[in-house]
Amino acid sequence: MAILYDQKHSFKERVQTSIADDFKHNAIKTAQDLFHGKRAIQVEAVEDWQDFRTEAASIRDHVLENLDYYLNQFATNAEKNGAKIHFAKTDKEACRQVVEIFKSRQAKSTVKSKTMVSEEIDINHSLMDVGIEVNETDLAEVILQLDDWNPPSHIVVPALHLDRFAIQKIFSRYGYTGSEEPAEMTRFARQYIRKKFLSADVGITGCNFGVADTGSTFIVTNEGNGRMVTTLPKTQIVLMGMERLVPDLASLSVMMELLIRSSVGSKITSYFSMTNGPRKADEMDGPEELHIVIIDNGRSKILKSEFRSMLRCIRCGACLNICPVYRHITGHAYGSIYPGPMGAVLTPLLVGYKKAKDLPYASTLCGACTDHCPVKIPLHELLLKHRENIVERERMSSTIEKSIFGMAGMSLARHHIYNLGTKVAARAMKLLADKDEIMRKNHHIPILKNWMQSRDLPLMKKEKFRDWFKKHQKEE
Ligand code: SF4
Repeated sequence: MAILYDQKHSFKERVQTSIADDFKHNAIKTAQDLFHGKRAIQVEAVEDWQDFRTEAASIRDHVLENLDYYLNQFATNAEKNGAKIHFAKTDKEACRQVVEIFKSRQAKSTVKSKTMVSEEIDINHSLMDVGIEVNETDLAEVILQLDDWNPPSHIVVPALHLDRFAIQKIFSRYGYTGSEEPAEMTRFARQYIRKKFLSADVGITGCNFGVADTGSTFIVTNEGNGRMVTTLPKTQIVLMGMERLVPDLASLSVMMELLIRSSVGSKITSYFSMTNGPRKADEMDGPEELHIVIIDNGRSKILKSEFRSMLRCIRCGACLNICPVYRHITGHAYGSIYPGPMGAVLTPLLVGYKKAKDLPYASTLCGACTDHCPVKIPLHELLLKHRENIVERERMSSTIEKSIFGMAGMSLARHHIYNLGTKVAARAMKLLADKDEIMRKNHHIPILKNWMQSRDLPLMKKEKFRDWFKKHQKEE
């Protein structure tokens, strides 16, 4: 089952396991190329895309600056609509509140539509611990659940690491005898989920956005399962991160333009559902009771910190779809339900540097994530900020690392030491290199061991740049 952060395995172990898995690599590569290509077409079609991004970023910033006001407005209006509002400071408190709702309704089972915040607070464990039957209904999440709660590897496409053959094998454990054709397997999944929809006591959804001046919550799905979860069970629970608000429907429309294009590379989504309180007397569908649990879980702290802009995130996944590191190490290597660049920034803020100090280093700092983020989060700058905090504020770098950078600093500040150092290094490299002047990977040089595990290193040129530069200056 997915947990916020995997502490059983070190970052290095997770990366090694992921790198060794060729199948996962190819799956991620194909998916990245597909999503990135589709997104590019949609973005090109919008003439003023950059203006859209600027507007979306300022809407998100405005909400964050006035979050107390908008939370209050949202809660008041949602209550007027008939919803019951709960505020939860921590993940545990949120889970406790949800379990209480189940008890008060004597509920025994639930159907869930995909929600990242439910993974973040790990609601599944809390519910199953008290004997509630939990059923995911998003197709990818169903596959992962049936595969003994295999953890997700992408925030939008959680089963990205499995292909049709793997899925056929998983389904066959539950009586499926058909082929590996997606349409046939989807039919099987539909039959399986439909029974769960009809018998579930409670529906749990996340919330892409809450609109403050109407008190409504919105979810976006591609399969229509969200709509079944919000209409069939007698009780509905919406789990909402406290930052997921927009002031009004006009700002919601801006966010939707960006969210759908950035996440799946489409103009519009298949299903866009609005919940406006429980069923009214003259309505045919909808729950008898609607509960909205507004979750802090570290967000107030982020709001007050230099990482506030991370709360603009609309969980579109565009930064994952462009990241060369995510492509190489794949989602599971991050060990977090939030992988990729957004996860490398967010996870240490949620679980602390002590547990996740390696994640900000899982980046080349190329800045592609920042360029692709629809709400202009300066992701690569935030990653650098984390690194600065880890080294300078938390003093968490190792003694070897400190000595290496101390020596590098000393030699870069004194040209005679630098000259001597490069001469010695060039000779040492020559001794270790092949005839064709390349140090081949898998060299077991203590300090460079990890670096050399997957890289060849050509020898340094005999002519130094500064000599080359002097020579060319003279020629000019
Ligand atoms: S950080 Fe930006 S690009 Fe990444 S998921 Fe969040 S909104 Fe999307």
